[in-house]
Amino acid sequence: MAPGAPTLTPRSPSATPSGTPTPSSTPTPSPARTDRPGASRATNLMPVIQHGPRGPQRIALTFDADLTASMRRRLQAGTVKSYYNDQLIAELRALRVPATLFLTGLWMEQYPDRTRELAKDPLFELGTHTYDHRAFTKHCYTLGTVPRAEMLTDVRRAVVQLDRLVPNATRWFRFPGGCYDGTALHELAPAGLTAVGLDVPGADGFAKSPDPIVKQVLSNARDGSIVVLHMHGGDNAPYTDEAIGPIVRGLRARGYELVTVTELMRGR
Ligand SMILES: [Zn+2]
Repeated sequence: MAPGAPTLTPRSPSATPSGTPTPSSTPTPSPARTDRPGASRATNLMPVIQHGPRGPQRIALTFDADLTASMRRRLQAGTVKSYYNDQLIAELRALRVPATLFLTGLWMEQYPDRTRELAKDPLFELGTHTYDHRAFTKHCYTLGTVPRAEMLTDVRRAVVQLDRLVPNATRWFRFPGGCYDGTALHELAPAGLTAVGLDVPGADGFAKSPDPIVKQVLSNARDGSIVVLHMHGGDNAPYTDEAIGPIVRGLRARGYELVTVTELMRGR
């Protein structure tokens, strides 16, 4: 999420140890209120959720599969062996952890068989993460920027790819870097997707060891949290697979049920 994002619902900033600016929207009672806490309800904007209901002890772990043009060049040059962290997926399967996976179009192009295989696994649901992981605001970390005129096309390109590979993909979408503003939400409204934000950044990007990732998630996750981690591994997220076991066991020991975003938002 970028500073300067539109205030769609009253928000209180939530401090996170990672230093990543992470808004958390507070559901407000209103006549138009739906059963989607944290969802924006403006009609001409892409809806955004930041977390699920605060009450049931449920948490959604989500994993983004980034692939930028420069990551793909590293792959092609052989400097990075793979941007599919199969050890992470194996851990999720071994621990029976439902998860929501957000795939970039470039990643699906690189790993079409993996995409189909993940889609067939009932543990997982798949959403999109743009075509090539450029940002939808200026100054979003070091990401390039999608021009306004190309925003809808870019997002639809990934959705078409996902639909081609997967028969029943979700309409969940995640902004690269979590960066968006009112312009992006307006441009993307016709896509028919819902943006899934977060209230717990997993801090696994460019991590130097698994421990800070585990600490970050376990100390910030709470009822209804949406946790963002990454499934591309390689040089960009090298310790997610080592962190996931302690994270899952830690959350379950505290009584949390791990669910997909769809299950989280559906409630009980
Ligand atoms: Zn990403």
